Amino acid sequence: MKLNFDNQFTKLGDKFSVSMAPRPLPNPRMASFNAPAAALIGLDPDELSGDIALKFFSGTEMISGAAPLAMVYSGHQFGGYSPRLGDGRGLLLAQVRGAKNILWDLHLKGAGLTPFSRMGDGRAVLRSSIREYLASEALHHLGIPTSRALCLISSDEPVRRETMETAAGLLRLSESHIRFGSFEYFFYTQQHDDLKKLADYVLDIHFPQLRKSPLPFDSMLLEITARTADMIAHWQAFGFAHGVMNTDNMSILGQTFDYGPYGFMEAYDPGYICNHSDDMGRYAFNQQPHIGLWNCLALCHALKPIISPDMTEPVRDHYHQIFSARYNLLMNQKMGLGNPIEGDSQLVADLLSLMAEHKVDYTIFFRRLGNIDALAQYGAAFTNWFQAYDKRRKLEKDTPEQRRKNMHGMNPKYILRNHLAQQAILQAEQGDFSEVDRLMKLLARPFDEQPEFEGYAAEAPEWARHLNIRCSS
Ligand code: AMP
Ligand code: MG
Repeated sequence: MKLNFDNQFTKLGDKFSVSMAPRPLPNPRMASFNAPAAALIGLDPDELSGDIALKFFSGTEMISGAAPLAMVYSGHQFGGYSPRLGDGRGLLLAQVRGAKNILWDLHLKGAGLTPFSRMGDGRAVLRSSIREYLASEALHHLGIPTSRALCLISSDEPVRRETMETAAGLLRLSESHIRFGSFEYFFYTQQHDDLKKLADYVLDIHFPQLRKSPLPFDSMLLEITARTADMIAHWQAFGFAHGVMNTDNMSILGQTFDYGPYGFMEAYDPGYICNHSDDMGRYAFNQQPHIGLWNCLALCHALKPIISPDMTEPVRDHYHQIFSARYNLLMNQKMGLGNPIEGDSQLVADLLSLMAEHKVDYTIFFRRLGNIDALAQYGAAFTNWFQAYDKRRKLEKDTPEQRRKNMHGMNPKYILRNHLAQQAILQAEQGDFSEVDRLMKLLARPFDEQPEFEGYAAEAPEWARHLNIRCSS
């Protein structure tokens, strides 16, 4: 298996990571693989389904050029600082140059015990591995910045959570596994030379264009802030709740990262909490924009030794400005409207409060909005809103066909509803991964009509309305 290895992170030295081999997953099987993602790292899909790939991605046998390591980081978890987290059940196997010279991290989640495992067993269960595998690709195809997934490895190693489950491996691809918490670790341990070293690495590898800026580290912070605001604007517009926005789960590239008990909004509910262990609703759907800023301010704090004094206000302003601009534009696009004008935010706010009051399925509503005849069923409560919307729409110059096409390209027909993932998981737990593969195919084209999958666009059936997604992973 030929990969263009270029291991850069390991050059930072042993304060940043611990070099170690994965613990092989017993009886590994290539349960599902994502052929289009293989192209990202210049890998032939046939090789991805072959024996060497299985051995490498199950941690059984490293190939020459790989340099597996566990990264150190800390982070704020539910608002409190945890001084030492780190890769407790995942390893960066290697970095590989792929198409367009992009450097990809190959990270095996579920790779066994590391010095950072604390009380955990170093494993990831099949259930949550499938959830991340499906969701990261679903978000990517919706146009939401995210890590990617290359393949899913099943095994027969038993692991104990609330019940007995089996361990699995997920090969995650991302251009970076550096988190806000990676900087926090070096700040709070007062290793400020290493903080700067990490920032230099991030600039050189990820933001080389910012080297020209008069204050590169200030620019880096503002760039991360902007990307984070942009990502969260997308979450809000597509109805995605992350569930665990701790600073150790925030990628410095502003990509959705470390999927846990996430959820796509079905009936619109601004206070939706997808994580059942989030008793206070810190990461409820409508808190995400505010928490995104909170996290950027935590990063700003950690970067204090190397940035200009008083960066707090610039971060706050930049975040608000980018978030509002992106969110307002995305919502307008979903409504088939051009650039936001006065009154548009009110139109969105009025719609969302109607949707909340009438528990309207968020995704289905927007999909139907492209086809005004399909709106009759929303009843009298929506009449005034439809009139206001119609009036606003008349200001646009596009033809009805153009508008419908644009709207269908912004309003997915298919999202990863919880019950769909759940069904795929139940079958996979019996050894049948065909539903996982089917969902991967479906979710790669969320905006297209796919008549053979019509049922997958429907609201959750009654049995699935109150699915309690186990949070342990
Ligand atoms: P997460 O909830 O996935 O964001 O993980 C938070 C921290 O707990 C990270 O440092 C993980 O590496 C660690 N962790 C989570 N689950 C396990 C596990 N099963 N074994 C070891 N460490 C874990
Ligand atoms: Mg994490």
